[in-house]
Amino acid sequence: MTELDRLASDFGNAETAIALTGAGISAPSGIPTFRGDDGVWKRFDEGQFTYGRFRSDPAGFWADRLELHREMFGGEFEPNAAHDALAALARDGHLDAILTQNTDGLHRDAAFVGDDSPADGITDAADATILELHGNARRVRCTDCGNRTEAEPIFDRAADGERPPTCDCGGVYKPDVVLFGEQLPGAVIQRARSLARESDVFLAIGSSLAVEPAASLPRLAASSGATVGIVNLESTPCDGVADVVCREDVTEVLPRLRDLAASG
Ligand SMILES: [Zn+2]
Repeated sequence: MTELDRLASDFGNAETAIALTGAGISAPSGIPTFRGDDGVWKRFDEGQFTYGRFRSDPAGFWADRLELHREMFGGEFEPNAAHDALAALARDGHLDAILTQNTDGLHRDAAFVGDDSPADGITDAADATILELHGNARRVRCTDCGNRTEAEPIFDRAADGERPPTCDCGGVYKPDVVLFGEQLPGAVIQRARSLARESDVFLAIGSSLAVEPAASLPRLAASSGATVGIVNLESTPCDGVADVVCREDVTEVLPRLRDLAASG
């Protein structure tokens, strides 16, 4: 029995199985990563994208954010085989929740869940719960009235010179993502932690597991007795607590895992 066979059979037997995903699952869809040799922080100064700058210089923040947004999400992109495999695992009843550090919305696309969503980053969809730990870059949110709306038309307005773009109520729009120096929504964190604690299988995919809260979730799952798997091209600080570590391409491993779980 290979390690992947074992993981697949654990998925089949699990009461609660959850996946945590990071930038490595979206890179094959053409979404640039933040860190690493080719990361956007090599070309942009991450210090310009803080919550503090948004508050003190919203016009400058929006000018820079517009460039970053176009760089990251300007092209056409869609879910890849890894997103699809997770959505299929959920449809098959083998995956209960997807926790993601990504803000690209691709897990929703793969699961055919609409963009008009939830205040707090938690979507309880039919097949699985999707938790967007760092928000969703395809939406913006009014900092006064809380209204959320599709990001692209607002970025177009910013490109046409309306910086910062404002809501009908007069409030300033902010990308609906968690900025550096900004607190993650408490409800999302609590839900992520309780899912990790409840899980029988916890699979981390394409995440360096270096940034909180993602970094502590595999340990939480392991200490609660879950089987922990990690699929990532590079080593992570959590490899030591994992039962299975797989250094292969996510778009190859996950479809294989799904097929094994489906036939098991
Ligand atoms: Zn408003």
